[in-house]
Amino acid sequence: MPENPPPSLRLFATRTGRAAYLDRRLAELYPETPVPLVHRDAYTLLVAVLLSAQCTDKRVNLVTPHLWALADTPEKMRHVPVEKIQAVIRPCGLSPQKARAISGLSLILVEKHGGQVPRTFEELEELPGVGHKTASVVMAQAFGVPAFPVDTHIHRLAQRWQLTNGRNVEQTERDLKKLFPREHWNALHLRIIFYGREHCTARGCDGTSCEMCRTLFPERRRAVRLQKT
Ligand code: SF4
Repeated sequence: MPENPPPSLRLFATRTGRAAYLDRRLAELYPETPVPLVHRDAYTLLVAVLLSAQCTDKRVNLVTPHLWALADTPEKMRHVPVEKIQAVIRPCGLSPQKARAISGLSLILVEKHGGQVPRTFEELEELPGVGHKTASVVMAQAFGVPAFPVDTHIHRLAQRWQLTNGRNVEQTERDLKKLFPREHWNALHLRIIFYGREHCTARGCDGTSCEMCRTLFPERRRAVRLQKT
């Protein structure tokens, strides 16, 4: 940092400074935050998020109408043979595990939760095939509970914007939750995903190609090697 750094340099020298700018600028770029996975209710969202593991939302949205035609409630789904579910969801990949999880969680929802999707992280993460990220998406997007699900896009961009050391997604989630107002989390995580898909893709970047890094790191004169995530 030069001796008398210009205001912009001071402003973005800290994680909180960068976070405040990103929060504001991403809200300008993406005022609306539609949920990318097409769904009808908490149950179809839960299943759609489960299917999106190592699969694009676009592909999931092509597959789910066929799955809902088979069954769109836990009560109906628990009666569908796993092989039939697997055949429909095959294009999403990992179909044997995902089919068993969909069948298993549907049965548990009927037997333990009156056919409803539970509204706590603990109960959600007890369901087969449901990890913390999936539970966070459902809590945020189905129930409006503040959550910060960290997917590959968010993990990558948080490192590129030096908001976290990104040792792992748990660390990234902790760091982002400390940096951004709780009431912004649900919209912000979608905005970061949108920016990641549109501008800051997994394909390498030299950290100078777009307005975000040019603004956050004004002193950056030449390409930097960004950490592979
Ligand atoms: S300059 Fe590259 S790394 Fe930085 S935000 Fe833009 S696309 Fe991402």
